[in-house]
Amino acid sequence: RLQEKGHNSTLEVNLNYLIDNLNYFKSILNSNTKLMIMVKAFSYGNGTHEIANILEYYRADYLAVAYTDEGIALRNQGIALPIMVLNPEPQSFDSLIRHQLEAEIYSLRNLRLFLENLDRNTYFQDPNQAVKIHLKMDTGMRRLGFEQEQLDELVELLKANPQVKVASVFSHLAASDEQEKDDFTQLQFERFNTMTAKIERSLGYSFLKHILNSSGILRFPDQQFDMVRLGIGLYGISNTPEHKAILKPVNRLIAHISQIKHLKKGETVGYGRRGVMPTDGTTATIPIGYADGFSRLLGNGNWQIEVNGKLAPTIGSICMDMLMIDITGIEAEEGDEVVIFGENNTIYDLAKARNTIPYEVLTDIGSRLKRVFY
Ligand code: PLP
Repeated sequence: RLQEKGHNSTLEVNLNYLIDNLNYFKSILNSNTKLMIMVKAFSYGNGTHEIANILEYYRADYLAVAYTDEGIALRNQGIALPIMVLNPEPQSFDSLIRHQLEAEIYSLRNLRLFLENLDRNTYFQDPNQAVKIHLKMDTGMRRLGFEQEQLDELVELLKANPQVKVASVFSHLAASDEQEKDDFTQLQFERFNTMTAKIERSLGYSFLKHILNSSGILRFPDQQFDMVRLGIGLYGISNTPEHKAILKPVNRLIAHISQIKHLKKGETVGYGRRGVMPTDGTTATIPIGYADGFSRLLGNGNWQIEVNGKLAPTIGSICMDMLMIDITGIEAEEGDEVVIFGENNTIYDLAKARNTIPYEVLTDIGSRLKRVFY
């Protein structure tokens, strides 16, 4: 907790809530279902290695990141858990193997490049010790992944190269949180079953299978296969009213008033003079701006910041490092804490006000803001 009034804009991360969320997801899983947790994109804005450390302590089975560099950073912080890299650049295969990261392989080209790299990789010297890979199937997302018709060639290539071992085969749901699209989700499950069965039969050994993300775990627990991939749910965010009531949002974004000004009716505030005081009143300047991920879409009344228990609208355009709010009628002093989003002005509402989703709000939160874990 910040004890003193200051000008630190901070993303608070409530670790008790995070653990409660983790335990809630665990309670849905069968005892032998493994848990992979997505710590990509700075752990959804929360701080990669702090979250990874906690997850290691709480015995997550796997972590996943998007790019090799994210995985290397975790290794450099001493994280020993298995780490899958979702979208490793082929030119990073060397360092991926060196850091014992496990590549997602999503195309024949990708696999060939990976195998070529192994042939000349100085960090891979013991051919008896197979390198683990994870195969991504495209069951309907149409983003990355093998197609049904490519599986014969895929298996042939794998059989000819026993120096790589398939640790898992997985896919990603396109609309796991949209009930009206559940028919499509069911189709994805069917395709996944067909594809994994075919690979297993032809390869002759078994591997982990996984397809569920957070809302998938909540809505289709009977499809958990051997592992699930938990992301946004860990941070207490869900799209369904039922689960919104159960999960606990772990984040609050706070700042402290830099300056208070007394203005006359009609005076203008900020760049372009786009904010106009509706009455004689008071404004407060808050040290957070679009460079911190607080979008310009939220200016001029499109968001309300909590000041001493009351909500105060933004006035004028959001600046790069600051914004102004109209606190007329609210008792406040310079240095007072304000809540940019929290219990009363939620991240869900903020996402809506910006015409986006909470994922983007979280991952946008600038790296220069402090993260405080408590
Ligand atoms: N699996 C994959 C392949 C992903 O790309 C993501 C996130 O984008 C997840 C799982 C986790 O999704 P969520 O944050 O919705 O749980």
